[in-house]
Amino acid sequence: MRKSCPGKSFRILERRESLGGTWDFFKYPGIRSDSDMYTFGFSFRPWTARKMIAPKEDILKYLWNVVHEFDLEKHVRFNTEVSDASFSSDRGTWYVDCKNGKRYSCSFLFMCTGYYKYDKGYTPDFEGMDEFRGRIVHPQAWDESIDYEGKRVVVIGSGATAATLIPALAEKAKFVTMLQRSPGYYAARPSETSGVSKFLNGISPYLGHWLNRWRSIWMGSFLWYMSKTYPKLVRNAIIKDIRSRTPKDFDVDTHFNPKYNPWDQRVCLVPDGDFFEALKRGCVKVVTDHVDRFTESGVRTRSGEILEADIVVTATGLNLQTNFPMSNIRVVVDNKTYDSPQSIMYRGVMLSEVPNFAFTMGYANASWTLKAELTCVFVCRLLNDMDRSGKDICIVKRDDSAVDENEQFFDLSSGYLMRVKDRMPKQGNKSPWKLNQDYTLDMMNLSFRKIQDGVLKFQLSGQRRRDLLDSRRRDEMIPSVSEHRRARL
Ligand SMILES: Cc1cc2nc3c(=O)[nH]c(=O)nc-3n(C[C@H](O)[C@H](O)[C@H](O)COP(=O)(O)OP(=O)(O)OC[C@H]3O[C@@H](n4cnc5c(N)ncnc54)[C@H](O)[C@@H]3O)c2cc1C
Repeated sequence: MRKSCPGKSFRILERRESLGGTWDFFKYPGIRSDSDMYTFGFSFRPWTARKMIAPKEDILKYLWNVVHEFDLEKHVRFNTEVSDASFSSDRGTWYVDCKNGKRYSCSFLFMCTGYYKYDKGYTPDFEGMDEFRGRIVHPQAWDESIDYEGKRVVVIGSGATAATLIPALAEKAKFVTMLQRSPGYYAARPSETSGVSKFLNGISPYLGHWLNRWRSIWMGSFLWYMSKTYPKLVRNAIIKDIRSRTPKDFDVDTHFNPKYNPWDQRVCLVPDGDFFEALKRGCVKVVTDHVDRFTESGVRTRSGEILEADIVVTATGLNLQTNFPMSNIRVVVDNKTYDSPQSIMYRGVMLSEVPNFAFTMGYANASWTLKAELTCVFVCRLLNDMDRSGKDICIVKRDDSAVDENEQFFDLSSGYLMRVKDRMPKQGNKSPWKLNQDYTLDMMNLSFRKIQDGVLKFQLSGQRRRDLLDSRRRDEMIPSVSEHRRARL
């Protein structure tokens, strides 16, 4: 906004007391990115830190540097949770109501509320939880007061959070057990910037960042393509690498060889193989079994094994927003309430029937922020285009023939996505209704394809029409200079 729409004013309404969303909110040990920072960071701000798989402290520092550089903090209203947003086509205005009683109005509403619920993580209702004498904590509720030094910890789950948390816990805990229902893919990768990247950064941080970013985008796309086209080959390569990193007698097939193909669900990143190192040190073990119930002293598995614990961490996932991207906000357009499943996505950034509205949704198979940045580029282009055309409302009309019920919101089968799939907006199987999971395609679509594509309609609000009529009438009432001269003669 500051760079591309310098004349526009804007407000950021943030329910929390600080910036950073996910990166300020999560506090569990070891929290770090699982994307490289060349693609997770902004395209215009080089990532120059030593680690490209970065701890949260580095990510927040980087974010705050950008906030200070563009003097953005003064635009943020903290502790301001939006509860309602209603659009008036007559006024061409959104009225945004907040839980603290404040009301804001704007001509365009841009929803950047993330994809999961902040209030509570997902924990299945395990039998006997209230009998357990230790502490049960979801990673989302972790706070610094939790002391795990010298304790026995059981982590239920094996997703990205467990993969991050377990090596960090193993540094201080007495013993850590990962209890997983079924294995997922774990892939090791160096956490530090490579020699080539350091060399490129040394020549010019901007050039280095640009080259590293594109190398990472293409590598990621290539791996995704290979996983979808030659799943057996990719599976074998991942499993072979794990065998070389785990102790000789370790049962890789039971614990790290999933039933599904790579990238049918997210592949968990293991920076520098830290998880496997902890396994080798003997301070971590993996159990592949189901939770039968909690006992007073730990967790009993279905096969009858008792996993003794002082702390049980339920790394069992997030609760996705059920009305994405409206989040917990009631959205009303001309007195009609909108639910996400009623809408079709347009270019993956707007919803049908909801005027002057865009939302951010990133990638599931690459850095989320790659798409977030493209979305912002599109929104700025759209705002400038509306200014040029003089129209103050843009809207996409629902085209039922475009809907494809078989088209999944994300091409992933993870449980947390499956739980909410019916509560998501619809999509079609071709452009502009299809959600791409491809950065290059989206860049063409959002940064370069013309805004006025015939699908996105532009119109005047009642207020703008009245203003235009008034000014025309005023012009007619003021005699022109030549009329004055003629009158004098
Ligand atoms: C532990 C963890 C690690 C992750 N690691 C990666 C990674 O390495 N790479 C990657 O690509 N993705 C990762 N993700 C996904 C991650 O959430 C996104 O990459 C990114 O941080 C999302 O940014 P966002 O601003 O869209 O959403 P969020 O970070 O979720 O921010 C949303 C913001 O909106 C605010 N908000 C919500 N509702 C309201 C309301 N009604 N009123 C006012 N404010 C509101 C929230 O308080 C929050 O500040 C990770 C997610 C988690 C949970």
